[in-house]
Amino acid sequence: MDADVIIVGAGPTGLMLACELRLAGVRPLVLERQPHRRDTPKAGGLGGQILELLRYRGLLESFTAACTDPIPAPRFPFGGVHVDFTRLPDPPMHALPLPQHLLERQLDERAAELDTEIRRGHQVTGVSQDDAAVTAEVHGPDGPYQVSARYLVGCDGGRSRVRDRAGIGFPGTSYPEVNRLAQVTLPDTVTVLDGGDLDVPGFGVIRAGFTQTDRGMFGLGSSADSRVVSLYTSEDEATEYDDDAPMTVAELQGSIRRVLGADLPVGEAHRLSRFTFKARQAEHYRHGRIMLAGDAAHLFPATGVAINAGMLDAVNLAWKLAAAVHGWAPSGLLDTYHGERHLAGARTLLHTRAQVALRRGHDPAAEALREVFQELLADEQPLRRMGRLLSGADIRYPMPGAAHHPMAGAFAPDLTLHTDQGVTSVAELMRSARPVLLDLADRPDLREAARGHRVDVRTAKIDEPPADALLIRPDAHIAWAATVGEPADTAVPALRRALSDWFGAPAADDV
Ligand SMILES: Cc1cc2nc3c(=O)[nH]c(=O)nc-3n(C[C@H](O)[C@H](O)[C@H](O)COP(=O)(O)OP(=O)(O)OC[C@H]3O[C@@H](n4cnc5c(N)ncnc54)[C@H](O)[C@@H]3O)c2cc1C
Repeated sequence: MDADVIIVGAGPTGLMLACELRLAGVRPLVLERQPHRRDTPKAGGLGGQILELLRYRGLLESFTAACTDPIPAPRFPFGGVHVDFTRLPDPPMHALPLPQHLLERQLDERAAELDTEIRRGHQVTGVSQDDAAVTAEVHGPDGPYQVSARYLVGCDGGRSRVRDRAGIGFPGTSYPEVNRLAQVTLPDTVTVLDGGDLDVPGFGVIRAGFTQTDRGMFGLGSSADSRVVSLYTSEDEATEYDDDAPMTVAELQGSIRRVLGADLPVGEAHRLSRFTFKARQAEHYRHGRIMLAGDAAHLFPATGVAINAGMLDAVNLAWKLAAAVHGWAPSGLLDTYHGERHLAGARTLLHTRAQVALRRGHDPAAEALREVFQELLADEQPLRRMGRLLSGADIRYPMPGAAHHPMAGAFAPDLTLHTDQGVTSVAELMRSARPVLLDLADRPDLREAARGHRVDVRTAKIDEPPADALLIRPDAHIAWAATVGEPADTAVPALRRALSDWFGAPAADDV
């Protein structure tokens, strides 16, 4: 075998997966068709629950330091409605203004620190599997070759070849809406008026802000330099675009002409990007030794959620693959990747599809729907709920036998922990991505039950403990929790079952 796991694609999902696998002691090989790290503009930032996970891994500080702009106030578009979390003292959704190419650089550097092999300029052209291994056909700079590994994960984007080769269906909808975004310097022939409006020769005044026309939407925004403006168009088109294919100034100008009827002269372009909207989800995230993650597994018809979902797929999958590679994965563990992350993807599809319905209507009924929606978001509870939905923090995985505790399945909150060695936190415990039994009630019976089960056991005191103990998986989700004061005769067997379900039969020595 050339590696334990082959990862196809070095986008945010593939790189995050590589880092998590390295933390779990697994040897991944990343194959990326592009010869160099890309610098084409895609996502302008990173938001949602992945930020909390990055904090738990001790990475958030360096990712924040890499941001080029100040952290924005937590305000987000939701299908044409404005969701403003600044009214809450503890906003449930945040975002980092870390453009995607800088995010990928951060992840790439982290992968290098963890000694990960990444081969750029190596395109996977075919994939096959048998009972023992999976083999990838690769076309590299020196010609075609083969590599084999125990598992292969397709993190190769929305047009995934791995998904096609594995015969996994990708049903859903492609919307006709094409969005174009640019930041350009205006030539001297265009006059910038007070308030950011533009006077364009042969056309007249283009207003700052959003303009709805019969053909679509046009947007004009200003920047610190009054001659550098942001331009946005959205229109329906029959053409299917590849979001990875670059956009040109001529394409942008053509769209402005169709949407607004204006021939807008444009000078130097600083950013040009196009994105389209699809609502698609792979029927299966796993087919034998082949798995899918990120855009290869799901495409959402709204911005701001896809990278969060893809990187969280990677975090969920990595420790399960590591268990399989190390030989102690309980039966069915790898299938829980599909069970859990397909469910999370379906939930993201639900709210992004709702955004399509809110955004695309332009008749009085649609306006009324947006107004009612906006009114509901003036109240604290709907606003909090919306924040948890948008960030993916409301995902509670189904945990067999653990339904009796409300924390089971949820992301572990960052509790402050008082231990004999001093003050620590759940975030600190999750840094090394090891599973933890957190004993919050000095329960020797539970600590004893966890012996030999490949989990770190920690005893701590906290103010108002929500449980006597929490069993936390490497992805920071709670596998099992003991209710406060739960007697040993129910707690111990339930803990033993959860340990076996997630971390396999006890080992003589902890792995
Ligand atoms: C203009 C634009 C704006 C966006 N804005 C946002 C945003 O604000 N927030 C957000 O969350 N998302 C946004 N997105 C979506 C986001 O960019 C994607 O969700 C994200 O890139 C998906 O990451 P990934 O790693 O799953 O796949 P990708 O980033 O698509 O990475 C796949 C990688 O696989 C490689 N690859 C493909 N085929 C092969 C092969 N056969 N062999 C080897 N390598 C292969 C590709 O070269 C690529 O590097 C935006 C997208 C666009 C285009």
